[in-house]
Formats: sequence, C-alpha cells, structure tokens
Amino acid sequence: MLTLDGVSIAYDGVPAVIDASLRLEDGEVLAVLGPSGSGKSTLLRAVAGLEPVTTGRIAWDDGDLAGVPTHKRGFALMFQDGQLFGHLTVARNVGYALRLRRTPNAAARVRELLELVGLEGYGDRLPATLSGGERQRVALARSLAVQPRLLLLDEPLSALDAGLRERLANDLRDILRAAGTTALMVTHDQEEAFTVADRLAVMRAGRIVQQGDIAAVWRAPADPETALFLGYARVLEGESAGTLLRAAGLPDDDAAVAVRRSALVVADAGPLAGVVVSARVTPELIRLVVEVDGIGAVDAVARLDTHPAAGDRVSMVVDASRLAVTPTTS
Ligand code: ADP
Ligand code: MG
Repeated sequence: MLTLDGVSIAYDGVPAVIDASLRLEDGEVLAVLGPSGSGKSTLLRAVAGLEPVTTGRIAWDDGDLAGVPTHKRGFALMFQDGQLFGHLTVARNVGYALRLRRTPNAAARVRELLELVGLEGYGDRLPATLSGGERQRVALARSLAVQPRLLLLDEPLSALDAGLRERLANDLRDILRAAGTTALMVTHDQEEAFTVADRLAVMRAGRIVQQGDIAAVWRAPADPETALFLGYARVLEGESAGTLLRAAGLPDDDAAVAVRRSALVVADAGPLAGVVVSARVTPELIRLVVEVDGIGAVDAVARLDTHPAAGDRVSMVVDASRLAVTPTTS
C-alpha cells in the first residue's frame, strides 16, 4: 500500500505540490487527474524517488521511502513517449530488465508479456517500424516485465490520437487488471482516467481537492471548478441554481448546480419553459440550446417525434441524473 501524507514539493523554493495526501491499496489503479501544470508529474516523480519532498511523508506499507533510492523502490515508470531503446528489437526492449537481472526463462516471459499487450509475433521488430500505439504497448510490457510492486504512469496515452487513445485506454485497464498491477496514473484527460482507474484524485494548483471512487467523484464534484474540469458543461449558482433544483424536485439549498450537457428534456408539459435558441438534428434525437426562464441558456434534448426549432417556446423536464449539486464556494 502506498500512502502520501501532507506531501509538498518545491522547485527553488517555489511550491509545485502543496499538501498532497493519497492512499493506494494493493491491486488498485488510482488516477490523479488535473490540468497541465497542476503538479501531477512532480508528484509522480517524488513517488519514484526522483524529486525530494519538502514536507510530509511517502510510505510503502508503513515504511518511509525518504532516502530510499529510485532503483530500490521496486517501482516502474512509464512515460507519455514510451522511451524505447531504438536500436533494440521489441523483444530485447521488453526483456531489458530481465537480462540485467539474469532472470531464467526470460524469453518465455517476454513472449507472455507480448501476448498480454496484444503484440504476439512482434518480437523481432524495431521500434521505428511500430505505430505510436504499438510502441506504448511495448513500453507497458517492458514496465511490467519485472512485476513492479507499483507502476507509475505519466500521461501514458496522451501522445496518441483520439480514437487510438480510447481503444488503448480500454486495453490498458484490462492489462493492468489481468496482471493484478497496482498503479498510479497521472493524466489531464478525464476520459482516460475514468476508463483506466478504479479511484480518482483530482489535483488543482498543487493540491488534491477531492478523491474517491470514480462514480462518487463524478456524481458529487467537490466544488464548481472541479465539476467543470470533470466535463460538466456549466455551473449555475444563486437563484438560477434554485430554479433548476426545485424543477428537479431536489432541495434548493445554498449550493451550486453543475449541469452536464443535455440536462433538460423537452416534454409536452414540464416545470420549466423557455425559447429554443438553436436545434441540431442527430440520428437519434434533436440537440437544443434553450434560453430557460430564470436560468439562462442550457443544453437540452428532444425526441425526433417532437419538432422544436429555433424560436419555438417549449416546456421541459429536468434529467436529475445529469445534475450534480456541489457546495458553493464563498
Ligand atoms: P503537470 O504534470 O500537472 O503538468 P508539473 O508537475 O510538471 O505539472 O509542474 C508543476 C509546476 O512545477 C509547474 O508550475 C511547473 O512549471 C513547475 N516545474 C515542473 N518541473 C520543474 C522543474 N524541473 N524545475 C522548476 N519548475 C518545475
Ligand atoms: Mg506532467
């Protein structure tokens, strides 16, 4: 088990990580999600032993890691760009650490790893002949070769294009589960975090602002800024938040309401009314922006058998599953 207690890290006296606390159980995959510059890589490097902590404690199973050099931590690191050895074949890249350790049956283990990452038969290829996604699979196999007690992943899929990133995120999750790997991944990509991890820690400006099961964080972001970062379309506060909460049958306490896209559904009758600003027809439904009385512009959907168009006045119901109530910051 990895624990971070009140960790801070500074570069030349300028703090990059401020008071970070985390807990990672064995076999679990935790994603630290935060915007660029929030301190994610710094935190990961400190866990790896590549950055000294200013205050606080990083421990593995209650053993303080301060003073334990990187190569004695039993952790493996994988980066965005894989950093393969270009002059070595795929098999020799994957088996690199095994050869250093003179591990018996290394060739069989390499074959097993290539199978795990879906690259059987690629052993004799050179990295330059592989696609970006294949190279990341090789990097992953190499990281897993020595069965690290913790795998540290720094934006492992960020260099790949969108479609491939999505597929590889699914594969990465399956591979980590199949290998039973304990992993700490940092990323700025919420989809990647949601796909790969069991638990989520949200980082902002050097602080962990929220952590928990992905569904729990997603349903109840700690504050409006977190909600927006998690992909909610907008956050309503004050009277417009109250109007939406009452329409959804929720208590209209002093809170902000984070609204996912299409939080409203056009209906024959409903507690909300407004004027359609724009309508876009997709194969299944009609996506609308509606200027709702007392709230403002909100994304809404309508079924194809209704025909709302720009300028129409419509009634709407609230899809409460697309709302999150977050504490208002004052
Ligand atoms: P992230 O990985 O979330 O993008 P980083 O951990 O790389 O964030 O950076 C956090 C902050 O620390 C940034 O303000 C960055 O400029 C600063 N920083 C990162 N690495 C160094 C370094 N080697 N020297 C000085 N400042 C650094
Ligand atoms: Mg980074």
